[in-house]
Amino acid sequence: MNIHEYMAKNIFRTCNIKVPESYLARSPEEAYERAQLIGKPVVVKSQVLSGGRGKAGGILFADTPEEAKEKTAELFTKTIKEEKVTKVLIEEKVEDPISEYYITIILDRDAKKPLIMASTAGGMDIEQVAKESPEKIVKKYIEPLEEFMPYQARNIAFEMGVDTTEISAIGNIIWKLYQAYQEYDATVAEINPLIKTKTGFIAADAKMAIDDDSVFRHSKLKEMDEYKNSEFAYVPLDGNIAVIGNGAGLTLTGMDLIKHYGAKPATFLDVGGGASEEIITKAIDLVLRNPNVQVIWLNVLGGITRADDVANAIVNVSKEYGHKVPIVIRLTGTNEEEGQRILKEHGISFETSMEKAAQKAVSLINS
Ligand code: GDP
Ligand code: MN
Repeated sequence: MNIHEYMAKNIFRTCNIKVPESYLARSPEEAYERAQLIGKPVVVKSQVLSGGRGKAGGILFADTPEEAKEKTAELFTKTIKEEKVTKVLIEEKVEDPISEYYITIILDRDAKKPLIMASTAGGMDIEQVAKESPEKIVKKYIEPLEEFMPYQARNIAFEMGVDTTEISAIGNIIWKLYQAYQEYDATVAEINPLIKTKTGFIAADAKMAIDDDSVFRHSKLKEMDEYKNSEFAYVPLDGNIAVIGNGAGLTLTGMDLIKHYGAKPATFLDVGGGASEEIITKAIDLVLRNPNVQVIWLNVLGGITRADDVANAIVNVSKEYGHKVPIVIRLTGTNEEEGQRILKEHGISFETSMEKAAQKAVSLINS
């Protein structure tokens, strides 16, 4: 599960990795206030889960609070790699960078070990560096069962070829990053760029992913609502019927049926075991961000979640979204009579057969 930059930076703060002063803003007005609080030129950074925001136009600079407000409004009109920008991080701009470094720790699943990669060629184009001059990237595995010692971190800094006066500071940051990686059961912990200034090093960007199976033991993370979107297994595809199901097998079967009847799925979206109103709302929100979606097919089999609860959720959600894009509903399972009665009462049509629902979804795009 990827987490947003601002959350990763909060983790960095708790691990004493220096980051610029920054505040989250959910509206241009809030951005104005935050920039005023910082009282210096700021960077307005889209909080989306994908990387490469700089290149995609998701990172803007602002000299005044007024400008921060304008830039935030501008970013809120953007979609970066299929994700709509709804919040930004207002961050003190790191002035006069001397150089930009790159440090990442990823779980190498083949080697079954964390791998540290570090380079003095940091900034935006690390993929290009990896392709064109791989010798500029130092790679070192960490033995997960042994303690990672500060001298080992300094060795990595040495191999990066940094100035001897920087080895201790860089080594210290690498070591702390590994502490953060371990403490939070991460699969990725990355700083790119780590900016060198006159006064030392500062992590201008932060990226982390937490092992899905460990999320439950990090209550600090769970408290943050931003996680909920990524509880889904979501894959955008190139068709135009958004297939939403509860359970991976059910969702895949739904996709097969859509193909069988001659159309293509626009998403694979498994909302998991729960199909509460909140989750259904978020799922529909998420698929509507994909401009190719012409029909939404909600394929729910009530299990632990009862069909009547799902029906109530659909009633409330369709009040809000019913008319933007047609929604085809298939609802069966536990308490289905009650669930279907609720839908009928609200004039919402539904199917009980998966085949019929799939055919209906396909006929709606062709009509
Ligand atoms: P990414 O493109 O998603 O990796 O987003 P980053 O946060 O790394 O921002 C992209 C680029 O903007 C960085 O590589 C830096 O070159 C630049 N940048 C980001 N924050 C700052 C900052 O505070 N000061 C300066 N001078 N440049 C920054
Ligand atoms: Mn970056």
